[in-house]
Amino acid sequence: MRLGVEAALVDGVFVAGDVEVVEGRIARYGIASAGGRSVAVPGFIDLQVNGFGGVDFLEADADGYRRAGESLLETGVTGYLPTFITQPEEVLLAALDAVPIVERGPRILGVHLEGPFLAPRRLGTHPAAARRDPDPALLERLLGSRRVRLVTLAPELLGADRLIALLQERGVTVSCGHSDATAEQADAAFDLGARTVTHLFNAMRPFGHRDPGIAGAALARDDVVVQIINDGIHLAPATVEVVWRAAAGRVALVTDAMAGAGVSDGSYNLGSLEVVVRDGAVRGPNGVLAGSVLTMIDAVRNLHALGVPLPDCIGAATSVPAAVLGLATVGRIEVGAEADLVVLNDNLEIEGVFVGGEGRVVA
Ligand code: ZN
Repeated sequence: MRLGVEAALVDGVFVAGDVEVVEGRIARYGIASAGGRSVAVPGFIDLQVNGFGGVDFLEADADGYRRAGESLLETGVTGYLPTFITQPEEVLLAALDAVPIVERGPRILGVHLEGPFLAPRRLGTHPAAARRDPDPALLERLLGSRRVRLVTLAPELLGADRLIALLQERGVTVSCGHSDATAEQADAAFDLGARTVTHLFNAMRPFGHRDPGIAGAALARDDVVVQIINDGIHLAPATVEVVWRAAAGRVALVTDAMAGAGVSDGSYNLGSLEVVVRDGAVRGPNGVLAGSVLTMIDAVRNLHALGVPLPDCIGAATSVPAAVLGLATVGRIEVGAEADLVVLNDNLEIEGVFVGGEGRVVA
């Protein structure tokens, strides 16, 4: 099958020509063809999705995942991490058990546990009663499901270094976040191997010129991927520009989407919390931001609107998050790779989405 595109994004460069898919994999690109239009880019990978299309993953069954997956596909996401915020152990274990093996829809690349080992001062809307100090035995029980792929923790907590070591031993990516860490504490965690930060600037010690904190430490290094929620609400556009100038090529776009994303304004659940979606913002009872209704294609468009070249914007939604997970087989177009692809027109509208070569969304 040929996609009928005029170019494909390969290693950050648009290569002219069509793309051929054979048995679910990319067989060739750069194929001379007449009349091609639109471009093929890798399918988007979202590291932080609490829910989508009316579905809250903490409470979803297989049918819920199927419905949320269909909606995510329409936004270009072909691989994602269902994300569970801080909850009591039994709730997390039940939610981990309920993550289905999907045969259709976007790939579930594992679960992102956002908590429960977070800083008391930086919880945002996470329920304080379920927060825990570092507890290797609890972490072991959570990892027992074998579904966990990424854990957000506050590295300054006493004993967090043991959790970081344990996670690395198990091949689980460590992300620092919901944290009051100073720059020194953050650097110590980065030196231990934690190489990414969850929603930079949100729910962390603020950047100060004499106290740059975890955000400043992450931006100052060149070996840390910073994840950002680029919805125009979580970060001011100028902040995103500063982040890009400091960290181009190591910025991962995430949505932090919740159940209300992809559907209409109203009241939704985020775990046990009731949140309200209005005018593009999601807020809990105390007015604190509680996830987003951002879609990944809009995160890409918002970054491009700031003047960032399109290939770099796409990279922030594909190869960079794939690298955070240590995955070499997704998030890029190369011969032999899974044909997880998005076809975009000149207006950055999605014309098609493919998972394993199967066309799932066709405009
Ligand atoms: Zn968060």
